Amino acid sequence: MTAGARLPAAARRLPAAARRARALAGVERPDRDLVATVRAELAAIEPARRCCRIAERAGLGTAASGRARTPVVGRLAVRLLEPADDAAAAAAGFDWPTAAAHCRVAWLRGVFLARGSLSLAYGRTHLEFVVPLPEMVPLADRLAELGLPISRRVRRSRGVLTWKSGDTVVAFLRRLGGAAATLDLETRSVAHSLRGHLNRVVNAENSNLARSVASARRQLEQIELLRHSADWERLPRSVRAVAEARRRAPEASYSELAAQLDASRALVQRAFATLEARALGVGHGRPG
Ligand SMILES: [Zn+2]
Repeated sequence: MTAGARLPAAARRLPAAARRARALAGVERPDRDLVATVRAELAAIEPARRCCRIAERAGLGTAASGRARTPVVGRLAVRLLEPADDAAAAAAGFDWPTAAAHCRVAWLRGVFLARGSLSLAYGRTHLEFVVPLPEMVPLADRLAELGLPISRRVRRSRGVLTWKSGDTVVAFLRRLGGAAATLDLETRSVAHSLRGHLNRVVNAENSNLARSVASARRQLEQIELLRHSADWERLPRSVRAVAEARRRAPEASYSELAAQLDASRALVQRAFATLEARALGVGHGRPG
């Protein structure tokens, strides 16, 4: 073999890799769009109450004071800052223990927009907050207080809080006021679990099929054994009819055999039980 002869094989492998890459991109792009839509939807919410606007700005943290991570968050921070907001009110900021429920939601929305990232890949929903280390435990405690416990760990001296349950992520985004895009997210995760369910059904059907093929094979062996024994002529005519029908249709179900014989399914089932019992008797009765 020369190098030249090996070339075509290598060339054939390239398009396969390219196809795979395209397939992956195709899976991920709609997910990225959905993530962007969820964020845009939450950033577009205008808290009506002044207390909530202050709380949401506090939640945005440094993102509100010029270091916005995205133009969407930057514009939100500007919108939240009203001329009427005096420095004292802003400085008083946000105090979780005494804050009203509406303010807590607004604060969390700010935290999510500034520190949260949502990722969807291969049907998994994953939401992560990356916060300065001193903020990790308080944020985890607050989320737990709302019935949304979150796992936490330290990564490169920063606190990382993570939800990997799609249901929890959807519950959180709903709480923040996410509507249409959150519904899409929910639909998508329902579609995914439905797909999982269908796969399990197909697998179960395949294993049922494997079982019935194995039992038909066993029946045919028993029938062949009996046909070459003296017992065959002593079997009831209906049992022999079922045996003949099985030989003609090795893959038929009991119901199909019953229909062919114009008999009941119960009769077919009893006939196979008789055949099995007699075949075992023949097997044991034979000297060798
Ligand atoms: Zn409020």
